[in-house]
Amino acid sequence: QPAPDLAAPAVKTTCPYCGVGCGVLATPDGQGGVAIAGDPEHPANFGRLCSKGSALGETVDLGDRLLAPTVDGQTVSWEGALGTVAGGLRRIAEQHGPDAIAFYLSGQILTEDYYVANKLAKGFLGTPHVDTNSRLCMSSAVAAHRRAFGSDTVPGCYEDLDEADLIVLVGSNAAWCHPILFRRMVDARAKRGTKIVTVDPRRTQTGEEADLHLGLQPGTDSALFSGLLAYLAGQAKLDGRFIEEHTAGFEGALERARQIAPDAAATARATGLAEADVQAFFELFARTKRVVTAFSQGANQSAQGTDKGNAIINCHLATGRIGQPGMGPLSLTGQPNAMGGREVGGLANMLAAHMHFAPEEVDRVRRFWKAPNIITGEGMKAVALFEAIERGKIKALWVIGTNPLVSMPRADRIREAIKGLDLYVVSEAVATSDSARATGQKTVLLPALAWGEKDGTVTNSERRISRQRAFLKAPGQARADWAILCDVARRLGHGEDFAYNSAVEIFREHAALSAFENDGTRDFDLGGLAEIDRRAYDVHLPMQWPVPKRGPDAKKGRARLFADGRFYTFDQRARFVAVQPPALAQPVTAERPLVLNTGRIRDHWHTMTRTGKSQRLSAHRAVPFVEIHPDDAARYRLSDGGFARVATDLGSAILEVTVTDAVLPGSIFVPMHWSDMTASDGRAAALARGIPDPVSGQPELKATPASVEAVAYR
Ligand code: SF4
Repeated sequence: QPAPDLAAPAVKTTCPYCGVGCGVLATPDGQGGVAIAGDPEHPANFGRLCSKGSALGETVDLGDRLLAPTVDGQTVSWEGALGTVAGGLRRIAEQHGPDAIAFYLSGQILTEDYYVANKLAKGFLGTPHVDTNSRLCMSSAVAAHRRAFGSDTVPGCYEDLDEADLIVLVGSNAAWCHPILFRRMVDARAKRGTKIVTVDPRRTQTGEEADLHLGLQPGTDSALFSGLLAYLAGQAKLDGRFIEEHTAGFEGALERARQIAPDAAATARATGLAEADVQAFFELFARTKRVVTAFSQGANQSAQGTDKGNAIINCHLATGRIGQPGMGPLSLTGQPNAMGGREVGGLANMLAAHMHFAPEEVDRVRRFWKAPNIITGEGMKAVALFEAIERGKIKALWVIGTNPLVSMPRADRIREAIKGLDLYVVSEAVATSDSARATGQKTVLLPALAWGEKDGTVTNSERRISRQRAFLKAPGQARADWAILCDVARRLGHGEDFAYNSAVEIFREHAALSAFENDGTRDFDLGGLAEIDRRAYDVHLPMQWPVPKRGPDAKKGRARLFADGRFYTFDQRARFVAVQPPALAQPVTAERPLVLNTGRIRDHWHTMTRTGKSQRLSAHRAVPFVEIHPDDAARYRLSDGGFARVATDLGSAILEVTVTDAVLPGSIFVPMHWSDMTASDGRAAALARGIPDPVSGQPELKATPASVEAVAYR
């Protein structure tokens, strides 16, 4: 990694990987390369970068870039490609109705891209079927927030991790997946003696470094937090005044919690933990005021993910530990702009700007957009959307900046289903991505700008809006996603409504849509940025929403919400939720006796289209693998470094075996990054049925019944 030439002008931008949203200084060398350093002024990372962020300079070559539009594999002009897309969308809408058109977006794209895609689909084409890979990431946390707070609001901020005395990490391998935040937690331990507790069936690197690791049975998180709520009540450790004045539903939630896990002994039985560990955790939580409970994909990617989030939030509401320095529930988003997608309404159950489908909200958005075809209800969430493609209900799919043919559950089935589409459009930077290589009836590939070339904003896990800035020239004919969408809108006759010339114009409109005069009942409000000019946008400093037009937050945003105990429900009270008893959506069987868990490894990101370019990153784990407990390895005659076929009801993959007691007996772990189209066939998501959470629609990716058998040679 060359040291950046500090004499050359460094461009301040934001890392395109995880939801920490680290600030990056990028110093281009003028020949297509770039030196990378952490931005010491960015409040997410203060100059630090993890292995992935610091290797960004190794991933900006153009070797595998999509540089020109193609239709059915033939290079065409932009004119030809856009004409094919617009003509296809018009024809399909006329023949089958706008409901036959779907968009699948990504937490990788910028807020401005998201805004334009959402507006085009939901206001002008008139299809509600806009969903995103963020559905797979944090939609259960979104649903839990809405149930508890009346809004999708992350109450706290990263500073709370610096100021906490206890950090509980639930379903989070932060040491690998949010590394810079984890460093802040470790720093807090060194400075103030903060205790770190991990709750995860796998003993990951994070668990290794924790003061207490709770390796509970898969899917039993809500039993642990139900037991905790019952314990807090039994030990008179509740904040009765907060419960009385600022919440509703406590009695029902407590009664349910007592049914699920009335005490530490019952909690131990329900979770498979040692009673002494449960007791130690309960006592630690009860006696520590400053507690942050950070939860991530291990909790969210579950058929009961929303209940897990609410079981956690219940414990914070019951103790009044929310909205104050060093305390609160904190959802860690996986992707760099999962939050930005939520802001613009780029989920199938949202309309725009944190608005849903109340008649007055629909009317407000319709008038603001001057939308001729505003939708009035929810569309299909990701799992249902792709199943609708399989059933032939969706005729046109436009995928922007994501790779569902690897990352979606049942990915193999989806790959087949794509072939039946009448129109398959992929806006993509990488020519070799699985999405770009799949072909449908009419496949249009549109070359998009990548990180370092595009310009706009992203929002990280603590509601902080940062700029991604361009420092490299656009390669070939690649264009911004928003510009491509606008050109299609023009061809569909909506030119005046999509006449943006730059990202800042889109941002201004997005901010204006979010601003309600003197309302005070909305969390998401960027009214203070609704008139931002180009220069201010160019020098925009990272800022946490809300940023209203008036008041103390107007200039710099707000770090914490709910400090006054007022929430965004109609009566301003938070809601306790009586959660369901834990149960796996698909229990193991005699034929599939193991629980397959999937997740990330330290040095790869999603489907490796970027991190796979770095030899350094690829060297960490070069081939896909399965982790298995020594007892199970002996039972199935597997040896460390050998190979195993991992099978579910949906298919199989051959993987290198890692024998480790980091996984529980009866569980196996497979990383999510590889596919059968990478050099090594390690597809993980394809093996999961992905039964969705009934509230959030987030699919189960952590507990699929599976079997293993030894393979002599690959
Ligand atoms: Fe990028 Fe996340 Fe690493 Fe920060 S912690 S450098 S945002 S991958």
